[in-house]
Amino acid sequence: MISYGKQLIDADDINAVVEVLKSDWLTQGPNVAKFENSVKSYVGVDYAIAVNSATSALHIAYLALGLGKGDIVWTVPNTFVATSNAALYCGADVDFIDIDLATFNICPIKLKDKLEQAKKNNCLPKIVTPVHFAGLSCDMEAISKLAEEYGFTIVEDASHAIGGKYKDTYVGSCKYSKITIFSFHPVKIITTAEGGMLTTNDAILANKILQLRSHGITRNIDEFEFPADGRWMYQQIDLGYNYRMPDINAILGYSQMQKLANFIERRNVIAKTYFDNFSELPLGLQDCSSDILNAHHLYVILCENQEQRKELDSYLLANGISCNVHYYPVYLQPFYRKLGFKSGYCPIAEDYYSRCLSIPMYAGLSDDEVRHISDLIISFYKK
Ligand SMILES: *Cc1c(COP(=O)(O)O)cnc(C)c1O
Repeated sequence: MISYGKQLIDADDINAVVEVLKSDWLTQGPNVAKFENSVKSYVGVDYAIAVNSATSALHIAYLALGLGKGDIVWTVPNTFVATSNAALYCGADVDFIDIDLATFNICPIKLKDKLEQAKKNNCLPKIVTPVHFAGLSCDMEAISKLAEEYGFTIVEDASHAIGGKYKDTYVGSCKYSKITIFSFHPVKIITTAEGGMLTTNDAILANKILQLRSHGITRNIDEFEFPADGRWMYQQIDLGYNYRMPDINAILGYSQMQKLANFIERRNVIAKTYFDNFSELPLGLQDCSSDILNAHHLYVILCENQEQRKELDSYLLANGISCNVHYYPVYLQPFYRKLGFKSGYCPIAEDYYSRCLSIPMYAGLSDDEVRHISDLIISFYKK
């Protein structure tokens, strides 16, 4: 069975993890900084902080920015539930902006319209979290202009997009945002099994995030609230969590980083092949402007309607190809309906959801497999 996404682990990755297992440090050792530094230099940012998931990263990103009760976070419905759940952890409210049917990303025009309305009603968001869906960067120039105009902070959910570029900077450089977060779940571009990372250029935020990652504890005597009794002393100055990434996972991330450029190149070759193979078919595909390097976490095709999507999914499954659907609009989840959201709220995201299908896309997919998957889809439409 070929699935829609899968990790690529080689002998170097395995050896690196085994070496750490034999070392003195399974967690809180030197490999976390090693992994953080590799991401930091790749994306071109001042601070990179590894955590145990992207969900944890979102949670402490929001907390570090002071999000709390009475605040509002806006994001898109076309994302994994974690993007908005993390805002709810902080006691904040969430709201959703519809997507653009060409990019499957947040629509900057709808964002502006909603901001204008919110300004009149005195309920502007504190944070807006664009999601770089499938690895395609959002229109960050437009969004950051709106951030200045309406006074919100941008957190980029780049769970899909490590290794991607927007104009002349890598996603994660935080040129257009305060904080970017990445996920290293096995289906994502690189993996640490479970894991995530935050990047920022703000030294104060980075320090806050470091504290929140580990119980709100500091070991920096300049931050102590009373003099230390001795060299053993740490002080807890905030309420934080245990969101640390173990060294076993960090070294896997470091090893995977050495292959990131190759992974992105391979994913782009596969995407180009699909694009060319599907040129005659009545499918909607994600647009990508020429100044963006799509990391291609996912490859989504838009069928003509819901019934056709279901038939194509079943046809591919019967032929050994297990597709997936990204995403059911977050606000239609039962938990979110109980918060008052109703169907029809973001019609483009709902139409998109009813027709989308994520076909296999991962660096380890062979040319033969890409050919086979393409042939099956072509034959489905020629039936
Ligand atoms: C995977 C994902 C997350 C959560 O990542 P974890 O590392 O599994 O916590 C958040 N946002 C998006 C868009 C994702 O795809």
